[in-house]
Amino acid sequence: MNRKYRKTVIAGNWKMNMTASEIKPFIEQLKENMPKTRTCDVVLCTPAVMIPAMIKAGKEAKVAAGGQDVSKYEKGAYTGEVSATQLADIGTKYCIVGHSERRQYHGEDDMLVNAKARALLEKGIAPIICVGESLEQREAGVTMEYVAYQVKAALNGIDATQLRRCIIAYEPIWAIGTGKTATSEQAQEVCEGIRAVIRKIYGARPARAVSILYGGSMNAKNAAELLAQPDIDGGLIGGASLKPVDFATIIAASNQ
Ligand code: PEP
Repeated sequence: MNRKYRKTVIAGNWKMNMTASEIKPFIEQLKENMPKTRTCDVVLCTPAVMIPAMIKAGKEAKVAAGGQDVSKYEKGAYTGEVSATQLADIGTKYCIVGHSERRQYHGEDDMLVNAKARALLEKGIAPIICVGESLEQREAGVTMEYVAYQVKAALNGIDATQLRRCIIAYEPIWAIGTGKTATSEQAQEVCEGIRAVIRKIYGARPARAVSILYGGSMNAKNAAELLAQPDIDGGLIGGASLKPVDFATIIAASNQ
């Protein structure tokens, strides 16, 4: 982390877990266990239907609400979709785009991820843009080329002012939900590479200011080491964000 230039973000991805009525007791437990003074922004990304409950329960604890996906369209005949306007209207501050599960199960490609990120930025919502290689790509030695392409494509048409609101989450697919974390060296190497890609496009200052998160089996035990890396500015956390004590421990680890 480098707090002088950028903010630390600890974001939970609840995926399709929990219910709205479980949010209040979760936040109470989280509050009891997390440090009173914090140096990071805390976000919990829930299914869209639970966002109002998260906003209400998270207000006092300063836990922001995030979505997990958004439509690239502004409005219209797109049954089942949720627009950036609708997310913004209920007070959503962050939204994940391009999570590997969306890419894998819903065929989302990099151009769609870019369109979604732009739709969010238009409405003042910070996109958490997920990128990351498969195990095959890592083993073939093309991790950085692939991730660089994903970052470039996701940021296409996004100007330097909008970039300030963007968060990049490096999530190696082989580490998500597998209990197999990238080593801090592997995670740092790719996060540093991502910053270099952004530097090439936007210049040194904007690149220095972008928060880059690591995601992939981050937990209460390994968070401190990952978060100590100079180019890792926080975490996107799945499984461990469902456990208030573990999530609070990760938040505390970011206070180092
Ligand atoms: C995720 O869903 O983005 C994720 C990183 O999950 P987990 O922490 O469970 O690997």
